Amino acid sequence: MKATPRQQLLKSIAQFIPRCERCTCDECEVFSGIFGNTFWHENVSPSMHHWLNKVNLPRLPMAAFPHLRKICNNGFIVDSNGKNSYLTHPERMALPTLYISGGKSLLVTPQTSFLANKYMMLHQPGFRHERVVVEGFGHSDLLIGEESYKKVFPHILSHLRLAEDGRRNGGVSAEESFCHGANLPLPVPFKVDHFVAAAL
Ligand SMILES: [Zn+2]
Repeated sequence: MKATPRQQLLKSIAQFIPRCERCTCDECEVFSGIFGNTFWHENVSPSMHHWLNKVNLPRLPMAAFPHLRKICNNGFIVDSNGKNSYLTHPERMALPTLYISGGKSLLVTPQTSFLANKYMMLHQPGFRHERVVVEGFGHSDLLIGEESYKKVFPHILSHLRLAEDGRRNGGVSAEESFCHGANLPLPVPFKVDHFVAAAL
């Protein structure tokens, strides 16, 4: 599909916007100009980079930006009408949570997951809440990185197992919810029906 003159102008402007890493791929340059870099290139394979830019992203929907602007202007999450309809009902989020941030900051800072974890520990102390900062990762490379299966996914599997154990044992105390850094053993897979993992 041929780009309109307005779309071409937006793409040209996006390519001039400063960002952490430059790339030789035009689609990648446009995407990171609009959103900011979402991954460290060294963490994704050439085939993943090709798929992201040439297969997954032939067209970039812009419809979410008015909503994102409202969230940024408010400084916390709001609905698409700008109303604070999420944080006012923590009782609706009765579930274990795991927050994973990259230690090599990109796009967002680890402070976001720090605050989210504190919020859940305060409002839902009966569930397990954990936070992990994985060194060397930025944002989406936490989930699509070539080494994610070794350095990130074990944290998710471990949390699933511990949260399920906690549920069987009647929940966890606030003291059992915590933040930690790395080096978890590979856990055994298991069934779970109440879990949120956020890569922030
Ligand atoms: Zn790139």
